[in-house]
Amino acid sequence: MLSEVNNSLLPYNTFGFDVQGYELIKIENKEQLEKLYAEDFFKSPFRVISGGSNLLLTQNIQEPILLVRIPGIEKNQETDEYVCVEFGAGENWHQCVLYCVENEWYGIENMSLIPGCIGAAPIQNIGAYGTELKDVFESLKAFNIETGNIENFNLDQCQFGYRDSYFKHQGKGKYIITSVILRLSKIAKINTQYGDIQNTLNQKNILNPTIKDVSNAVIEIRKSKLPDPAILGNSGSFFKNPVIEKSLAEKIQSNHPDLKIFPASGSLVKIPAAWLIEKSGWKGHKRSHVGVHEKQALVLVHYGGGTGAEIQQLATEIQTDVANKFGVHLEFEVNIW
Ligand SMILES: Cc1cc2nc3c(=O)[nH]c(=O)nc-3n(C[C@H](O)[C@H](O)[C@H](O)COP(=O)(O)OP(=O)(O)OC[C@H]3O[C@@H](n4cnc5c(N)ncnc54)[C@H](O)[C@@H]3O)c2cc1C
Repeated sequence: MLSEVNNSLLPYNTFGFDVQGYELIKIENKEQLEKLYAEDFFKSPFRVISGGSNLLLTQNIQEPILLVRIPGIEKNQETDEYVCVEFGAGENWHQCVLYCVENEWYGIENMSLIPGCIGAAPIQNIGAYGTELKDVFESLKAFNIETGNIENFNLDQCQFGYRDSYFKHQGKGKYIITSVILRLSKIAKINTQYGDIQNTLNQKNILNPTIKDVSNAVIEIRKSKLPDPAILGNSGSFFKNPVIEKSLAEKIQSNHPDLKIFPASGSLVKIPAAWLIEKSGWKGHKRSHVGVHEKQALVLVHYGGGTGAEIQQLATEIQTDVANKFGVHLEFEVNIW
């Protein structure tokens, strides 16, 4: 178990904020967690970071940080129709997608190029281009910090919702996810209907796309729309798409016919947060070190030399402005520390 004291957290957050972490402990297997448990480590506050791509660091972190780096990719069930694969929590999400694409295991190709690690994917039920983690989720293993045992969670127990799960509510701070098992189809099933996937394939004259063609199309679209954190600090979508009463959405739409409304559940509908932010005049907004990305209004960016507090201030101003203009509350998708 590697433990380092007084580290810069710059390499561990995609916003690129240079805050200090008091102690960084690299976790590579469950035995290390058991050892920490035996030492009463979990009786004091601590934090968990995987890829740091869904974090806004607004201050130095005083608590020890567990850096989850548990490796492993293992097939644990296979039929003619599907394969179940267990991925160690520290495996890089996109590398796992590429591994499945190479093996022609269908189900996560539309989520190509999402940053971060497998172990964090269930926390907010990651999703992109019409697919969510829950669609391929079999189960996960998590270390319970109160009992010191590894527990299994099935689909129902994870209570997945839109960018939401049990681990953001009752399970928050109580578990460290150690592995995730996905059920992937061996029978060709592709979904090109969402976003620009079909257009991108058409432009390349690909009539019968393979899983690799779909993955490549998603990668190409994402690279053209989203800033690369290695070049421009960001954490992907900063806000969730709001789920609101249909009557409110229709009221907004009566003044703005270009608003798109998507069914959610019951009397609720989902509307695009990016539209609300753009209509409020924030797209491309720039102030000293931070701003709103010029191509994607959902993405707040750090140009360098700034602080997480500046992003938080900007996010709060956007939140207030959208609420005043449209009566809609925008919820943060990013975790604020
Ligand atoms: C450019 C860009 C594009 C993005 N696009 C998308 C997208 O299309 N769809 C999408 O859903 N997300 C997207 N994201 C957000 C992000 O990639 C995902 O939320 C990802 O799952 C975060 O993984 P991570 O390993 O970086 O988690 P971290 O940022 O390290 O952690 C996120 C949260 O999970 C907790 N956590 C992490 N690992 C564990 C663990 N093993 N056990 C318990 N708790 C843990 C942390 O404490 C923290 O609260 C994007 C981000 C960026 C920068």
